[in-house]
Amino acid sequence: MSFTPLTATVEPDEQTHAPQRTYEVRTFGCQMNVHDSERIAGLLEDAGYADAAGGQADVVVFNTCAVRENADNKLYGNLGMLASVKDARPGMQIAVGGCLAQKDRETILRKAPWVDAVFGTHNIGALPALLERARHNDEAQLEILESLDVFPSTLPTKRDSVYSGWVSISVGCNNTCTFCIVPSLRGKEKDRRPGEILAEIEALVADGAIEVTLLGQNVNSYGVEFGDRGAFAKLLRACGDIEGLERVRFTSPHPAAFTDDVIDAMAETPNVAPQLHMPLQSGSDRVLKAMRRSYRSEKFLGILDRVRARMPHASISTDIIVGFPGETEEDFQETLRVVEQSRFATAFTFQYSKRPGTPAADLPDQLPKAVVQERYERLTELQDRICGEENAAQIGRQVEVLVTAQQGRKAHETHRLSGRARDQRLVHFSVPDGAEQPRPGDLVIVAVTQAAPFHLIADPQAADYRLRRSRAGDAWDRAQADSCGAPAPGSGTGVSLGMPSLPLRTAST
Ligand code: SF4
Repeated sequence: MSFTPLTATVEPDEQTHAPQRTYEVRTFGCQMNVHDSERIAGLLEDAGYADAAGGQADVVVFNTCAVRENADNKLYGNLGMLASVKDARPGMQIAVGGCLAQKDRETILRKAPWVDAVFGTHNIGALPALLERARHNDEAQLEILESLDVFPSTLPTKRDSVYSGWVSISVGCNNTCTFCIVPSLRGKEKDRRPGEILAEIEALVADGAIEVTLLGQNVNSYGVEFGDRGAFAKLLRACGDIEGLERVRFTSPHPAAFTDDVIDAMAETPNVAPQLHMPLQSGSDRVLKAMRRSYRSEKFLGILDRVRARMPHASISTDIIVGFPGETEEDFQETLRVVEQSRFATAFTFQYSKRPGTPAADLPDQLPKAVVQERYERLTELQDRICGEENAAQIGRQVEVLVTAQQGRKAHETHRLSGRARDQRLVHFSVPDGAEQPRPGDLVIVAVTQAAPFHLIADPQAADYRLRRSRAGDAWDRAQADSCGAPAPGSGTGVSLGMPSLPLRTAST
């Protein structure tokens, strides 16, 4: 589980001279939640709150996840720690939103009666009013809607990064994977109209972004709600016409709904990145059936073959669950076979554990932890080897790196900067002596000189280093100047945008 405080400066209220109330958003879970937190921050700033910039906030909002194991214990642990802080700070408020709030509702107020507001996944926009009402009535407020109130993308947003942005194309999911709680908490799929999506992307690009990631629980079913099954491929092609947009990514597709028109659109639209996150979940057809995932391993491998036929250098990543109820050693061997054949650039591997409220939680044959652990270790050993081999094959290739503000753990020793290649591989690179330093948001072209399973290294000679200063780098400079000392958007307090970077993701799609 990852947690992302969003932070900024406190400014006085000009009319009353009272200090502005400050906020902090703590985010748990998947990219959807990270993006929702950008909206929560935008809403609060629109309502007059200022970012707490790492200080103790007047309002702390938890944007929760119900997918991770022990999510509730972790939330109540965090809330418990804040109870005494709140006691010592009159006027402080605590709000809980997101999937766990949608699921647990009153339970949160019963277990943590010092919480002031509980809101769900369908009514993020109500948060400022709930906080205000809780303060006015001196009483906790609970508001959960069963279906979407306002499409979240119409709410104000405080973006975490100036060079990359998330753009929701749909919310909810019509599938019923037996391990997943998402459909019961996020509801049926609702699609946004293409014109609205493209307008949001154009606005982001006008602000300096050069990369967007289209977000949906199942992007391939985009358009089903308004009767156009080809809508996702058309949307990718339309992104290709947006001047200044250099990289388009999306997450996540679903193998059952993945069609060749999307592969064609990816291959024929130059700014669509050569990268695909395609969740496998299991290589066993028997387990896929029990998971209620309607593709089979041969179909999955066929998609990968067709993607690579059109985009030979595409990097393909996946999600895999080990130890689903009833998984036999033979089933697991099938997963190893498909993983060996798939040559994933990276894989997010999960040990199955029960999620209350999901059909799989009630299945017989839940596997002992030791069995799941042992299979998990065999799988990660195999995938780590493949990651290493696939990255080693990159040595000598020239890659274009979008420089990010986040640096590697060893950056203070190596003095390397970091960024993402077009295929989303993480690259740590050094700037040759005397060469111009890039800014976050700029692009450099370097040749890969070393590889490790989870990153590439480029230590170029001056002649092999090319810097392209970009509009995103200019936007970074402007954000730095505007922030008056507070961390700039994307400066490392947030998540790195683009494909999965959160260490623990939801097992979804
Ligand atoms: S795993 Fe993905 S496709 Fe399946 S129900 Fe959950 S969100 Fe939908």
